[in-house]
Formats: sequence, structure tokens, C-alpha cells
Amino acid sequence: MSIAIYPGSFDPVTLGHLNIIKRASACFDKLIVCVMVNSKKHGMFTPEERVELLRRSTARFQNVEVDFSNELLAAYAKRRRAHVVVKGLRAVSDFEQEVQMAVINRKLNPRLETMFLASSEKYTYLSSTIVKEMARYGADLADFVPREIVDAVNQRMRELEGTEGKEG
Ligand code: ADP
Repeated sequence: MSIAIYPGSFDPVTLGHLNIIKRASACFDKLIVCVMVNSKKHGMFTPEERVELLRRSTARFQNVEVDFSNELLAAYAKRRRAHVVVKGLRAVSDFEQEVQMAVINRKLNPRLETMFLASSEKYTYLSSTIVKEMARYGADLADFVPREIVDAVNQRMRELEGTEGKEG
């Protein structure tokens, strides 16, 4: 069985991520979308919440599993018996760091290959950071995140803004 992992922060999942998930899931028997936990970074959503939002957004893909991990990607891949890491490339600016990561991951786990999918031109501008900015200004998020999670993102932004307002 060919198993691939699509790792990221997914804080929150965007239509750019979903496009990669759809295309990658068509290439492998199973695609594991894995929220990689970086304990130093406080996100908009907790890792558990990101998993839940990803599950809602990918429910229609039969061969997609959503998980989270605080392991090294190379170790996680070995444990899950995955031989491929999928990465989306938006622009040349993504390239340098991603190639560096790919080389390190293969050093740590020689059976692990990284495959890059070029972002669909519709989504090259899109990142989770942009989504957060748009949500802050009350923009319609339908063009940026899966429809299943639009309300959750708006709601969380209102909560965060409310808290900031009280603290400030
Ligand atoms: P970000 O916070 O920048 O959106 P993530 O760490 O959540 O990034 O991204 C996980 C993976 O998805 C990375 O391989 C990243 O290059 C890719 N990715 C993110 N946004 C897009 C997009 N709009 N199109 C294609 N790939 C993307």
C-alpha cells in the first residue's frame, strides 16, 4: 500500500491546502494529513481543533486520514510506514527551505522521499496567515477556507479580538 504524509501547521486549513490534499489523495492509496505540533508557536487553533477542522473539510475523501504528531517528521513517517512526504510549493520563496527539509528528512530516514506539488495558480497567494488577516478585517472567508469551517474561523477571531480588547 502506498502511504504518503502531508504535514503542516494547518492553522487553519485553507483552500490551498485542500487543493493539495485532493490532488495528492488521488496519487496514493492513503494520504495522512498530519498537524505537526510546534510547541513554541501559539496558534489561532489548538492542534486538536486543527485536526477537527481538517476532518470536517476532508470528510468526503475516503482515503484521507487526519492525525497530529509532535515527533520528528522522519520518525513519524517510519512509525506510520509512509515512504512519501507531500509538500505544496507556492513560490520560489517556499523552495529553499522545503528542499533543505527534504534533504534532512531523507538523511534521517533514507526511505523517505519528498514530492512537491505545484500550487494551483488560484491559490498561490493563499496562506493561513492571510486567512487570519482577512478574518480580522471581517472579509468573506468563502474564497479562502473550506465552507465547512468558515463559521469556526470567524467565531474564533471574534473571541480572540474580544480577549485582546479586554486585555488592552
Ligand atoms: P501556511 O501556514 O504557510 O499556510 P502550512 O505549514 O500549514 O503553511 O502548510 C503546509 C504545507 O502546505 C506546506 O507544504 C505548504 O507549502 C503547503 N501550502 C500552504 N498553502 C498552500 C497553497 N496555497 N497552495 C499550495 N500549497 C500550500
